[in-house]
Amino acid sequence: MTDLSTAVGAALRDVPDFPKPGIVFKDITPLLADPELFGRVIAWMAALGRAAGVTKVVALDARGFLFGGALVTELGVGLVPVRKAGKLPSESIKVSYALEYGEAEVELHVDAIAPGERVMVVDDVLATGGTAGAAIALVRALGGEVALAVFVIELGFLEGADLLGVPVESLVVL
Ligand code: AMP
Repeated sequence: MTDLSTAVGAALRDVPDFPKPGIVFKDITPLLADPELFGRVIAWMAALGRAAGVTKVVALDARGFLFGGALVTELGVGLVPVRKAGKLPSESIKVSYALEYGEAEVELHVDAIAPGERVMVVDDVLATGGTAGAAIALVRALGGEVALAVFVIELGFLEGADLLGVPVESLVVL
C-alpha cells in the first residue's frame, strides 16, 4: 500500500446504515476538505490518465464530478458527465442497469465522445460495478474506447472490477 493509499484510507469516514440499513457508506467529504490530500489524489489520477493518453474524462453522477472537474484541469482534456436519467439537456443516449433492488438509468450526450477517442472513467466508489459498467457501455455506443476506469475506493469483496472489462485502478481497496 502506498503512502497516499494509507493517507486516503485514514481520511475516509464510514457511515453505518446510510442510505439504508446494512450499507456502510464511504464518506469522502473529509478528503474533499483537505486540499493537500485532495491534490495528491488528483495528481495520482492525472498520472494514470496521461500514461494512458486519454483525450476525455467521463465522470459519474454525482461524486465523480468532484474528482473529474479537478482532474481535467491537470490533464488538459475535456470533461464529460454521465448523468442519471432526465438531467442532461441535449440529445442523449441511455442505458439501464440492475441495482440491488430494481434498476437505474444513466445518460450521455450523443456528441460528447468522438469515435475512436480514448476515455478515462472516474468515480469515488466502485461497488458492484453496475454504474461504471453502464457508463462504459454508453462510451462504447458512441465509438469511444475506455482506456481505464479509476476510483478512489473499491469495495473489492463485491468483485465489481471483474465486470468492467477494462483496466481498473483504485487507490484504496477494501
Ligand atoms: P455500483 O454501481 O454498485 O458500483 O455503485 C457505485 C455507485 O454508488 C457510485 O457512484 C458510488 O458513489 C455509490 N456507492 C455504492 N456503494 C457505496 C458505498 N458503500 N459508499 C459510498 N458510495 C457508494
